[in-house]
Amino acid sequence: MKSAGVSNIGFHRKRNEDCYYIDEAQGIFIICDGMGGHRGGDVASRLAVHTIRDHLDLTGAEDLASVMTQAVRAANLAIYKAGNADEALREMGTTATAAIIRDGCLTVAHVGDSSLYHFHAGVLTKITKDHTLAEQMKADHIFTNGDLPISSYSHILTRAVGVEPEVNIDIYQHELSEGDWILLCSDGLTDLVTDEEIAGFMAAASEPESTALSLVNAALEKGGHDNITVIVVCV
Ligand code: CA
Repeated sequence: MKSAGVSNIGFHRKRNEDCYYIDEAQGIFIICDGMGGHRGGDVASRLAVHTIRDHLDLTGAEDLASVMTQAVRAANLAIYKAGNADEALREMGTTATAAIIRDGCLTVAHVGDSSLYHFHAGVLTKITKDHTLAEQMKADHIFTNGDLPISSYSHILTRAVGVEPEVNIDIYQHELSEGDWILLCSDGLTDLVTDEEIAGFMAAASEPESTALSLVNAALEKGGHDNITVIVVCV
């Protein structure tokens, strides 16, 4: 397995509120995209990454889904408590997309609108579902709200880590084949670079680092209005 991560502040934000973590030896990959006023966003995403990492003790672990659920719950509680303890951090929160790849199996824990994609045999599949109001409206077969298209609601999260004392966590498990690619990214990429374009980069990929850089550069060329973070893994 080979992997690379790249995070870029973009052209318009004062801080990079994305945070990522790679432990290739253990097959652990995490992206968190924080939100909240003042310092809240970057505090939340960093606290989430550190708490999830510290709770992913995989020694002898058999039920990875349960280990990951506990890890994200611990992050949720840590952020919720820190937010309540400091006025400047109140209501901070973060997305969390965490993956473990081991023994040919991918386990993902996911909250929010960062994304995880699987590229297998030339086909790109988005594994995670965004927890946004736009997706919720689609699921409820609501396609407009007066003059506003539902895409106007694509930035309103219906779930985030750290905003409430409890959080619902989606878990996905998939078999992987050697030569498959996995992409984790924040919405700074997916807002600007389409799935078709991402598939093109993955099809052309020869190694993770140059692919990660190409993806980030593509978002920068289209304006880079948000922080952009990607992790590319070749299984
Ligand atoms: Ca973002």
